[in-house]
Parts: sequence; C-alpha cells; structure tokens
Amino acid sequence: MLYSKDIGWKSVGSEEKKEIFQFCEGYKKFLDLAKTEREFVEEAVKLAEEKGFKNADTLDAFGVGDKIYYVNRNKNIVLAVIGKEDITNGANFIVSHIDSPRLDLKQRPLYEDSEYALMKTHYYGGIKKYHWAAIPLSMHGVVVLKSGQTVKIKIGEDENDPVFTIPDLLPHLDRNVQRERKAGEVLKGEELNILVGSIPSSIKDEKVKELFKYAVLEKLNEIYGIDEEDFISAELELVPAYKAKDIGIDRGIIGGYGHDDRVCSYTSLIALLELVDTPEKTVVCYLADKEEIGSTGSTGLESRYLEYFMSDIIYKIKGDGYNDYLLRKCLWNSKALSSDVNVGFDPIFKSVHDPQNAAKLGYGIVLTKYTGSGGKYTSNDADAEYVAELRKVFDENGIKWQTGMLGKVDEGGGGTVAKYLAHFGILTIDAGPALLSMHSPFELVSKFDVYETYKAYKIFYRA
Ligand code: MN
Ligand code: MN
Repeated sequence: MLYSKDIGWKSVGSEEKKEIFQFCEGYKKFLDLAKTEREFVEEAVKLAEEKGFKNADTLDAFGVGDKIYYVNRNKNIVLAVIGKEDITNGANFIVSHIDSPRLDLKQRPLYEDSEYALMKTHYYGGIKKYHWAAIPLSMHGVVVLKSGQTVKIKIGEDENDPVFTIPDLLPHLDRNVQRERKAGEVLKGEELNILVGSIPSSIKDEKVKELFKYAVLEKLNEIYGIDEEDFISAELELVPAYKAKDIGIDRGIIGGYGHDDRVCSYTSLIALLELVDTPEKTVVCYLADKEEIGSTGSTGLESRYLEYFMSDIIYKIKGDGYNDYLLRKCLWNSKALSSDVNVGFDPIFKSVHDPQNAAKLGYGIVLTKYTGSGGKYTSNDADAEYVAELRKVFDENGIKWQTGMLGKVDEGGGGTVAKYLAHFGILTIDAGPALLSMHSPFELVSKFDVYETYKAYKIFYRA
C-alpha cells in the first residue's frame, strides 16, 4: 500500500559497481572532448560512422535496419535506426540538448584598457555571473573567413595551452563597489571581460596606437591567419578549461562542466549506437542545440527541423507513396523522452525543495510529469496514461527511477524541450538524472544515475 524508494547504491554489487564506474570513465572522457555543441556533433559523427551509421543525405531510400544520421548546420544532430514496424505507427524519440550555459565572444570583442588586452563576452543561457570570474576558461569555436574557409579554434584544453580568465575584485577593496550588490549583479554582464594579453607589441608604426591589443592580433594572425574583422563572422565560446573529476573519497559523483545536458545526450547516443538487433519501432536520438536560450533558431527544437527530417525518413521509406498525412500520423503516434536533467535535493539549501517530491542523487533516472513554474505555466504535463506505461516498462526491466520537481511550487522554475515535442502530438515526459550545482561551471551528477539513465534509454528505444 505504501510507496517508498531506497538509494540505488544499496542494491549494487561489486561487479555492477565496476560496470558503473567503467561506463562513467567513458562519459568523463567525452565531457572533456566535447565541450560545445559543434564538438559534440563532430564526436557523435565519428562514433556513429564507426558503428555503421550513414549520412542520410547520401542515401535515396531506407529499409528496415538502416542506420542513418542527419547533421543540421553543424550544431544539431539526429541519429535513427529504421525499425521493423510501419513508421506511421510512430517512432520512439529520445531528445536531449548538446548546448550548455557559457560565455560567447561579442562580434567586436577585442579592446585595450590600462595596458591589458581584453575581450568582451555575452553570456549564453542562465548563469550566475559571479561563477565565471577567477576560473580558467578555454576558447572553442569557429571563425569563418570572407572566403568561406572555416578556421577552428580550441585554446586552453591542452596541458601546455594558455587559458583565459575574468579577473575579480579582491575582498579587501570590494566594500563600496561590489559587496552591496545583489547576487545577480556581483559581476554584471558588461563586466564579464576576459583577459587575453599583457605584453605590448614591438611594432614601430604611428598608426598603431594600442600596442597590447595589437600584440594579440599579431599572435592570432600568426597562428590562425585571422584579423580583427573576422571576429564578426565567428562563433567563439568560453567554457571552463578544467576536466571532469571524481568527487568525494568514494568517487561516487562526477564534477564537470555541462552535465546539463551532455549526461542525457551522451547516454542516449551510446544507448542508440549499442542497439544490436533491429528494433520494432523506428528509434530516433535527437541532439538539439539552443535549449538553454529557449530552443530558438533553426538548430533548436522550436524550429521545424523535426518535421523536415521525419518527412525525409518517411519519404525514403515510402517513396512515391509519401504524403503529409503519413508524417502527421507518424508524429501523433510517437513517444518521447524529453531527456534533460532535474535538480537533486540540496543538503545546504533544503528550503527550496518539497522534500516529498524532490529527486535525490543516487536514486536513478527522474521522471518529471511537468516542469514549468507558478501554475504549471507553459509546461508539458505528461498524460497519466503515458506515465503509467513508463512506470511499467521501467519496473519490468529493473530500472531504478524516481519522480522529481524543479523545486517548491512558486519557488522558481524552468522548462525543457518537452512542449515542442508534445506540440506534434508526441507523447512526452521529461526523463534524466538529477544534478547538484546545476548551471554552474562545475555541475555534479551521481555515477549511479548516469549508468541507470543509460540503461533506461536502452530499454525505452525498445519499448
Ligand atoms: Mn537542460
Ligand atoms: Mn539547462
């Protein structure tokens, strides 16, 4: 009659613990390798091709068992395996995002002040700005030249690379300028400037007035062949330069940048790549961009890319028998996990949670019926029927799962991509592990939950 859950670690034997830890080593490596959406797409293509997935654009027709992928503007990737059942019966989607909160360089970033060269940034996604001062930052991204040539940039990840940083004010002198500010303004948006140089150029040219700025341009030109104007057509992102690490003497937790949402995107990707037998339903692993700024743009979930690639899949299966009704029917009959992280019960700031409904680290994947804030505003509220179906599937397959909520009612709130899937009639529920320090530059996730999420996704693809 009564409902209760226990922490997952209690039921883990030594063999399974080894498996969990091993899987998490792979995840940690991937976190260090793919810190941006573009890097994630590149790595995913490599892994997918190794497993026999083909670029969908190179094929005219698909048959049962075909493994394909679509790359959308280098920032969004979709992988699919064509199932045995008629596609209009619906597909099983796992949808997560591969962008994370960060600092982007402005279009005209470089300036000189007080004999330093600095660059201006614009934060991307919800951050606590003060988190980003006085930590090592690496720069990742692309500069596209007028010629159309793309120059890739990655500075700060190699052991011998320099890094960048936002200098903060010392506590001895912050009394008037900083100490009375509200938390959201301890550092203001326009104060998020990174230090990029401190040695003046030796050039003797009367036209060059700013020698510190010029020295940075000289170096960039020497290494990358770019000049100041090229920043206009660039996407350069600052992310924490450090690697993912085990947390605690027992190594039960992983600390790292961007668990939100690479913990879901990595696990759903690996679960798909490891599908050995052809599934009944067509399965789709959708790795989206731009979730952190509202799923906007052509690489975010609000775009019509979902219809675009699904119509391509159906057309290449059905040939001339394709019509728009088949696409609508397929989507309306589909099921999805909106795979995103939730918040774990916080031992230090307990008051923001309803303890009875909060997710906990180590209790497995979190099924979240609805997110949103206030009166369930703008949330996808998963149907009770669908929640029951998943409870059954996960229980029957021995998956540890729990429920969760993004804090107390009226405490705050947030959203995921769920509503953009439900829009097409896709049955959707949020499902991913719980984090501590979410949206900080060093997020925390339980190793047990990483592995359980991976196992749950494997089961879902086959459900
Ligand atoms: Mn997320
Ligand atoms: Mn997020």
